[in-house]
Amino acid sequence: MRLLLVEDDRMIGESLRGALRLEGHAVDWVRDVAAAKITLATEHFDLVLLDLGLPATGAPGAESVPAGGLDVLRAMRSRRDATPVIVLTARDGPGDKVAGLDAGADDYLVKPFDLDELTARIRAVMRRHSGRAQSALTFGAVTLDPATRQVTLDGVPVLLSAREFAVLEALMQRPGALLSRAQLEDRLYGWGEEIESNAVTVYIHQLRRKLGADFIQNIRGVGYFVGGKPG
Ligand code: CA
Repeated sequence: MRLLLVEDDRMIGESLRGALRLEGHAVDWVRDVAAAKITLATEHFDLVLLDLGLPATGAPGAESVPAGGLDVLRAMRSRRDATPVIVLTARDGPGDKVAGLDAGADDYLVKPFDLDELTARIRAVMRRHSGRAQSALTFGAVTLDPATRQVTLDGVPVLLSAREFAVLEALMQRPGALLSRAQLEDRLYGWGEEIESNAVTVYIHQLRRKLGADFIQNIRGVGYFVGGKPG
């Protein structure tokens, strides 16, 4: 998935970005209200992790504003951007949680939190958002469970790398939907990460080798899909 991390604390931001990349997510990171608003108005993300105390701008010496993150969230919801948002807050007053949820957050976590809890909540929020009661995605003989990160073929576990998993998850979330190479690269790489040329081709090749040559279809020059006719 492509995630936007909005966090002004360098140490927290670096550790979260690193950990989420290891999980196979593409993570972009902005550090102030103005950058978050511009980024969210111009690019698509699957989920946003939003700190509440943020400076208004990236100007040197700009002080963190307590409700800066709520400002970002309200701006998203007021233009009907329904992207799931998990609020990360250092403060644990009940008022902050209520304000975050009232402003349209899908969940919140109080710092310091456990990374396993964060990744579990990301999966839960994405499940609710996509309207699936069950976490596993199944198509044909292949089942992919985002919660356990396990993939099976005819019930037999298949070992995938984090990026092979990310490509397969993107394709299995919407069977029949065509994803271009650029859309798949977006799911694999954050800003500033060097995109290896033909990386997508390599991951698709590996997935076909492990799951069967016909599982992932492609339309030359257009993109890839699993399932019936692309729609
Ligand atoms: Ca902060």
